[in-house]
Amino acid sequence: MSYSPLLIRLIDALRCMPGVGRKSAQRIAFHLLERDRGGASTLATALGDAMEGIGHCSQCRMFSEYDLCAICSAPGRDETLLCAVESPADVMAVEDATGYRGHYFVLMGHLSPLDGIGPEELGLSLLEDRLSNGSLQELIIATNPTVEGDATAHFLSELARRHNVEASRIAHGVPLGGELEFVDSGTLSHAFSGRQVVD
Ligand code: ZN
Repeated sequence: MSYSPLLIRLIDALRCMPGVGRKSAQRIAFHLLERDRGGASTLATALGDAMEGIGHCSQCRMFSEYDLCAICSAPGRDETLLCAVESPADVMAVEDATGYRGHYFVLMGHLSPLDGIGPEELGLSLLEDRLSNGSLQELIIATNPTVEGDATAHFLSELARRHNVEASRIAHGVPLGGELEFVDSGTLSHAFSGRQVVD
């Protein structure tokens, strides 16, 4: 006996989530149908609204349903500092762990030629606009301490140099091969204040 078409469709759809295979999808589907139809409806509405409404901030590429995200539009942040990170979760990690009050640029990934991710995919022309408008004093590169993160950091520091903006990279205390999002806030805070000029 196989499942009904709607149930098959639900299980298949759930598998788009990272880390959810067939068995987990089945378990989630049964749980929602049996125990939490209200929660499932709320989820369906939130998913629909988010997918339709959320785009990227026109300045930093953070997810936002507005043209400018909450950080870019916040008054009083330091316009001379720009911190480049790989993901929106890294913005939150830096915000929570450090006293940083500058702006961000979210790459939404790292350079990875084998996966077809080059400067264009990371929105680097938008970053160049920021580097060339004369208001920036420092580009803080907070990419992950991985091989791809290192290559991306090198590329970004060259870009900054071409526009006469000082580039620094957070390094101290962040474990090699680790991801910023999972570094504890004390370590990240220390790494951030101990950033070094890239030469
Ligand atoms: Zn923004």
